[in-house]
Amino acid sequence: MTAREPSHLFYQSRLRRPLVDRAEGVYIWDVDGKRYLDGSSGAMVANIGHSNARVLETMRRQMEKATFAYRLHFENEPAERLAAKTASLMPEGIDRVFFVSGGSEAVESAIKLARQYAVATGQDSRWKVISRMPSYHGSTLGALAVTGYDPLTAPFLPMMREMPKIAAPRAYLDRDNLSPHERGLKYADLLRDKILEEGAETVLAFIMEPVGGASTGALVAPDSYYGRIREICDEFGILLIYDEVMTGAGRTGRFLAAEHWGITPDLIALSKGFAAGYAPLGAMVAHNRLVEPVLDAGGFQHGYTYAGNPLACAAGLAVLEEIEREDLCGNAERMGSALKERLELLMKRFPFIGDVRGKGLLLAFELVSDRETMTPLPAAQNAYLKLVDEAYSRGLIIYSRRTRGGREGDHFMVCPPLIVTREHLDEIVDKLTDSLAALAASLGL
Ligand code: PLP
Repeated sequence: MTAREPSHLFYQSRLRRPLVDRAEGVYIWDVDGKRYLDGSSGAMVANIGHSNARVLETMRRQMEKATFAYRLHFENEPAERLAAKTASLMPEGIDRVFFVSGGSEAVESAIKLARQYAVATGQDSRWKVISRMPSYHGSTLGALAVTGYDPLTAPFLPMMREMPKIAAPRAYLDRDNLSPHERGLKYADLLRDKILEEGAETVLAFIMEPVGGASTGALVAPDSYYGRIREICDEFGILLIYDEVMTGAGRTGRFLAAEHWGITPDLIALSKGFAAGYAPLGAMVAHNRLVEPVLDAGGFQHGYTYAGNPLACAAGLAVLEEIEREDLCGNAERMGSALKERLELLMKRFPFIGDVRGKGLLLAFELVSDRETMTPLPAAQNAYLKLVDEAYSRGLIIYSRRTRGGREGDHFMVCPPLIVTREHLDEIVDKLTDSLAALAASLGL
């Protein structure tokens, strides 16, 4: 079968890509033998690289024992051990783990636990979950309600309860005289204003990606933002949910991005790098003080059939062990700062790169028609698709989005697996440089 034959499959669009043959380390080969450097770890998933022998061996051993045992009929050891390992990597007190099969489910679960906690503790009036524009928290209707990305949410507005939004801290666009510290506080105080506008007694939680994902292109807030958000949530008794689906499992150079700012959220959503593509797996991790009242009040009215299955959990545990054994958080920090410097150097050669940002190996750059004013490229130029295709033809995979929600713009995620070496960085930057030159020639930039 080739990718060009008609298919019964469908996804988001008519886009068809080559058939994958095999994957190893940072590379993927298609059936024609062409090799691609996975410069975005798929969708920022394959953190430990592809086909890791130790993880495969663990999975093989688990498969020979039991692939599935329903959680209402049996406990299983991989789930117990993965929960304990996960809890050991969380901030103090965040030690109750609820397994799911992906990021949307993890976010959905966090919102539902928060709500059931409020009900169980006599705070029934609290139901609104404030989030940011732009942001991405998943595809299920609950996760979508807190997502700030118009093209994804607009068709479903009549079906879901849209949640209040505040502007994401896109401080890099601001042309004012504020210091980074003041800017961070200014953006965080938008939350305070929104809580007062909505009525604090109606607000349940605030959800944020500590470093933005594809919706904002690796947006990092000024340092002062993070602590101030925590203070505001505490002031009004509002739960703080960190969506670490993309940032978790070492991607930003710490196991959790929250560690960079010493923040302890109340709930954390994990997926993607948590099982690094070896199994569909995610987790919602909560403070024990939220879980106990819900269990006492009759139980958490929520769950998924595949949750906590032994095969996925065995894979997840092997992945976390690999992250520790190979110090992949440390490598993400070291290789991330080297790659960021190289991307910043590209700004000298290509004036249409407006900004380079991110943390660890969650990096992005944004294209603009004028760096001074940060004017986006015209949408009709479709730069976000064209540059990806240029890179693809050269055997490099990067991830792009045209942001909508507050402001439009083309940005590109450069997020290779956390196992990358300096030689891999050379290959990424060389191929990216050629791709940007080709884009400049074709769009007359
Ligand atoms: N939250 C964030 C921050 C994400 O980046 C994503 C996926 O990109 C999700 C949630 C949803 O995860 P999934 O696609 O596994 O449902």
